[in-house]
Order: sequence, then C-alpha cells, then structure tokens
Amino acid sequence: MARKIVILTGAGISAESGLGTFRDEGGLWAQHRIEDVATPEGFARDPGLVHRFYNARRAQALEAAPNPAHEALARLQRDWPGEVVIVTQNVDALHEKAGAKAIHMHGELAGALCFACGHRWPAPLEMAPGTPCPSCNAPAGRPDIVWFGEMPYHMEIIAEHLQSCDLFAAIGTSGQVYPAAGFVEEAAMAGAETVELNLADSGISRAFDDHRVGPASKVVPDWVAELLTAL
Ligand SMILES: [Zn+2]
Repeated sequence: MARKIVILTGAGISAESGLGTFRDEGGLWAQHRIEDVATPEGFARDPGLVHRFYNARRAQALEAAPNPAHEALARLQRDWPGEVVIVTQNVDALHEKAGAKAIHMHGELAGALCFACGHRWPAPLEMAPGTPCPSCNAPAGRPDIVWFGEMPYHMEIIAEHLQSCDLFAAIGTSGQVYPAAGFVEEAAMAGAETVELNLADSGISRAFDDHRVGPASKVVPDWVAELLTAL
C-alpha cells in the first residue's frame, strides 16, 4: 500500500509564482541570449553579465512565494505513508519554502560553486567576477546552476528512484522533452504507473498512462487530494 512516488517538476509549476523561463516572451530572459547567460562559454566570455543575470534571478526568486501546487506536493510528501521523491528542474527554492524536500537536478540559485575546487557554499545575494571561494580562496565562484552543455546533477540517484518507484508524475514540464521523456520511459519500464500534469496537452505524449490538463495550481492539489483520499 505504501507505494513509492517520484515526481518531476518543471518550469510550469514555478510560472504561477511569477518566475519565468527562457521560453517565455518578455521578462528577464527576453533581454538575453541563452548562449550568453546560460552556458560555460558565455560565462568565460563575460562573467560580469552572467553574474548580473543570476543576481537578478536570485532577487526575483527570493521574493516569490510557493503556490497551491507546491503546497500540495509538500502535503503529499508529509502525509503519504510511502516515500515521495520530488526531483525538480527548477533552480528556485519554492518546494523548500512550501516545506518539501527536492532534488535539484539543475542546481540552485541559492548556491555558489567554485570551478577551481568544486566546493559549494550559500550564494551571497550579489555575486561578482572574482568572488573568492571560502575553501581554496581561488577567485572562481560561479552560480551553482547547471548550464546548457553541462551534465545535470544527481542523475544516478534519480535513476535509482525511477527504477524503484510505483508511480511517476511529471508536472509542468513537457513529457516530450528530455529529461521527462526519458524519466517516464525508465519508470514505465520498471512497472510504474505514469501521469502527466501539464498546462497544455502535449498530444502525442502517449508514454504516460494518465493526463491531467490545466494550471498546476489547480490540477496538482486535485491530484494530491485524490491520492490521499484513496488511502
Ligand atoms: Zn575552491
């Protein structure tokens, strides 16, 4: 009965808390090219620009509040008798602000990383080129964010969770696009039921057993209530 649930969350769950992504028209991302602010090459070319971009995102994320979808997942993690693993592509801390624990596969705005020694520490509100590493003192601080062209974090532990789960849900992320597409296959191969909760019906995402279409703040609390009521 105490089934294990793995949930992947993407940009769609944070969008309703006012945090945009590079796919949105307008906003922070529209003023920049991805290759300038979200790649290791861009950082090597102009670290000042990249730090200013992430400083702005960090400030924005700090003010953002979790929405009913984040709250519902925190409730599920707390009240479900089995294990509930939340894996997120988001770099904000909205799951944590709602009281949940999440695995951040793309890093976190709240983190700094030394590219000289690999040390991690809490990012100051404002990072700048030459921010010294508290461990090795190299002027090599960067945002602890997985950029395009870099390996996502925690992939081995995520694979283990997918292979041992009974239910896999993808929320606010297109089931057609990596990594959700790969995750649903992996979970399904392990015998898990799969459900997609997304704003738009991705139409051909037949890899999922079940689909819930609508804003995350509506469909996620409904889905969580169903799961907890069926206990
Ligand atoms: Zn260091």
